[in-house]
Amino acid sequence: TVRRLAPHATTIFTEVSRLATHFDAINLGQGFPDTDGPESMIEAAVRALRGGHNQYPPGMGIPELRHAIVADETARTGLVHDPETETLVTVGATEAIAAAVVGLVEYDDEVVVIEPYYDSYVAAVAMAGATRRAARLVRSGGHIRLDVDSLREAFSPRTRAVLVNTPHNPTGAVLPREDLEEIAALCHEFDAIAVSDEVYSHLTYDGVEHVSIATLPGMAERTLRISSAGKLLNCTGWKIGWVTGPADLVEGARTARQYMSFTVASPLQPAVAHALRHEQEWIATLREDMQARRDELAGILTGVGFDLVVAQGTYFLTADPSPLGVTDAAAWCLELPEKVGVAAVPFAPFTDAFTDDWSHLVRFAFCKRPEVLAEAGRRLQALA
Ligand code: PMP
Ligand code: GLN
Repeated sequence: TVRRLAPHATTIFTEVSRLATHFDAINLGQGFPDTDGPESMIEAAVRALRGGHNQYPPGMGIPELRHAIVADETARTGLVHDPETETLVTVGATEAIAAAVVGLVEYDDEVVVIEPYYDSYVAAVAMAGATRRAARLVRSGGHIRLDVDSLREAFSPRTRAVLVNTPHNPTGAVLPREDLEEIAALCHEFDAIAVSDEVYSHLTYDGVEHVSIATLPGMAERTLRISSAGKLLNCTGWKIGWVTGPADLVEGARTARQYMSFTVASPLQPAVAHALRHEQEWIATLREDMQARRDELAGILTGVGFDLVVAQGTYFLTADPSPLGVTDAAAWCLELPEKVGVAAVPFAPFTDAFTDDWSHLVRFAFCKRPEVLAEAGRRLQALA
C-alpha cells in the first residue's frame, strides 16, 4: 500500500461489522436498513434483468435515470440541472466523492474537511494526493454547529474545495442555513468549490428543514451535490449514487470515474429511475418511520444511562457512554459485540485534528425494524 493510503488500510465499518457477524450481535454500527426498498423497484430490477439490460450502459448513466434524478432534485431543492451535462450516475455516493475530489483537486491544492467526518472524505483527499485542512463542529446548547473560527482558519488561498455534509454522519446534526452561509462566504472569498454530500437530505425530523448549500446565492455554480439511492430507497447494496452540478465540475468527476468503474450496473438503473418517479410517497413514509425509530432507540439508550445528542436527521444517534463508566469509547465499542451482543461505532476514527473533542462518543444506527431495536434494548440493559 502506498504511504498516503496506509492510514486508511481498514475502515471502522469493516471492523465493527466483522465483530458483529462473528459474535452474532445486533449491528447498530454500520448504517444500513434491514428491510427492502419499494416492491415496485425490486420488480423493475427483475424485469430489467430478464429484459436484457445486462451490458454496459452509457458512462453518465442511462438517460431515463438521469432525467428522474433531475426531477427528484428539482422537487426537493428547486435546483434545475441538465440531465445531459450536469448529472452523473456513480457507484454509490462513495465513488461520487472520490471522483469529485480526484477529478477536481490538484496535488498542491488544499481541501477543507470538517470533523467529525465521514471516513471516505479523508481517504479521497489522500487518493488525490492533496493536503487536508481541518475545521470542526462543536456541541452548542444541545445542538451541533459549525465552529466558524476553525473554518476560517482552515481556508487559505490554496483551498480548492470544502467537503460539506448535512444531514451529518456521524452526529445526526442538520446544519442550519447560517452555518452553510458561513461556508459559502468562504468559498466565494477564496474561490473554492463545495462538494456537498446530501445522502440523508430526505431524512430530517421534527420539522427541521434540510438546506442544500447549492441553493445559497452564487453557490449553484460552485457546488457538486451528491446523493445515493442506497439511502433514499433502502438499497445500500445496489451502490447507486449520483452527482449534480455545473457542467465544468461534473466533467472533472466524470473524467476521473471513467477509470474507476466506467459505469454503473445496468439492470439497477431503470429500477432506481422507476422508484424516483413513482415511489415518492414511499420515501416520505420512510422519513416518518425513521423518526419513530429514532425516538424508540433514543428512549432505550437514555433508559440505559447514555447521554444523547438527539439526531435531527440521518440514521444515527450520538451517545456518550461516560455515565456508564466508560473511559475509552473506541476500545469499548470493540468489546461490545462480544460482551453485550450489540454493535456500535466509535467517533474516534471520524476525527484527526480534533480527536479530543469527539473521541468519548459513539454512534448507534436506528435504521432497523422496531423488534430489532427492542431486542437491542433488552441486551443493552446489561449495561444499566
Ligand atoms: N456519505 C455519507 C454521509 C454516508 O453516510 C454514506 C454511507 N451511507 C456514503 C456517503 C456512501 O454512500 P454509498 O453507500 O451510496 O456509497
Ligand atoms: N454509510 C454507512 C455508515 O456510515 C456505511 C458505511 C460503510 O459501510 N462504508 O454506517
